Amino acid sequence: MTQPTYDRVALIGLGLIASSMFWAMKRAGFAGTVTGYARSEATRDTARRIGLTDRVCDSAAEAVEGADLVVLAVPVGAMGQVAEEIAPCLKPGATLTDVGSVKGHVVDTVAPHVPEGVHFVPAHPMAGTEHSGPEAGFAELFDNRWCLIVPPEGTDRQAIERLAEFWHMLGANTEEMDPEHHDLVCAVVSHIPHIIAYTMVGVADDLRRVSEQEVIKFSAAGFRDFTRIAASDPTMWRDVFLTNKKATLEILGRFTEELFALQRAIRTGDGQHLFDYFTRTRAIRRGIIEAGQDTDAPDFGRVKVEK
Ligand code: NAP
Repeated sequence: MTQPTYDRVALIGLGLIASSMFWAMKRAGFAGTVTGYARSEATRDTARRIGLTDRVCDSAAEAVEGADLVVLAVPVGAMGQVAEEIAPCLKPGATLTDVGSVKGHVVDTVAPHVPEGVHFVPAHPMAGTEHSGPEAGFAELFDNRWCLIVPPEGTDRQAIERLAEFWHMLGANTEEMDPEHHDLVCAVVSHIPHIIAYTMVGVADDLRRVSEQEVIKFSAAGFRDFTRIAASDPTMWRDVFLTNKKATLEILGRFTEELFALQRAIRTGDGQHLFDYFTRTRAIRRGIIEAGQDTDAPDFGRVKVEK
């Protein structure tokens, strides 16, 4: 049995990320107890049926009572309101963390509610799928992925290290970052790729005649991958763009400039520009494989995960 990094963990929100955390804790032989809470009765019922957490509670306050680690695993736009609700029930000395995809907004909306004596250590596991809900999780989700830890200035060092240790137990690697940098990096590697995918699939859908027949029938790997990303949870992604406005608009501006340059190269027949550009981007892919963040298997390296 692995020694528990915390004795009691509370998961608030029981979707893809929280359920994956729970199964990863189980896999690691986590010896503490885990309570859970989700907003809807339907999700709580599902959680009870599949044994997701040791005890599913009917209120967030009940779930966090006595917990050493409280994880906010709800959409970014709901973090502040949930933090306000549970704040009076947090145990002195406990750590409050989150898994939100945007960090500046979470720090701004959650920190004001954190009571004296509770350590607030925001974090973001850089792992996910297009599926959501309590049945979407699996123990391997965080294996060899990064979990970025984004502690506000002055956060207790021991609390940070304890949370990092917890994420290592779940299979992740950790690194510390400040909120602004985190939001810019994530705009590049995650948020803008999603909006591009949403746009591309939206464009295909606008071409009704095509989308009803050929697009689905002949969908090639490139388009299929766009549709997979564009199937991601609408609530989560709406919140990401509304709360990471500055960085996503900055990167979207750069993206548009590059797109216009490529558009011009196509129009003017500048093959050298296209060839050089595609050569440079191919090297990025090699770097990701060398860093162990994907495989060079065909079908875009997609691994079929057995639940
Ligand atoms: P999810 O599968 O959609 O689950 C969200 C959970 O939050 C559900 O249990 C939902 O309860 C609950 N919830 C929603 N609104 C709420 C509210 N206002 N008050 C209380 N609970 C509420 O989402 P997820 O993919 O696990 O994402 C959770 C967080 O992780 C988000 O902040 C997201 O940005 C972040 N994240 C996601 C990914 C990813 O790829 N999915 C990756 C890294 C980080 P009900 O089921 O009852 O509605």
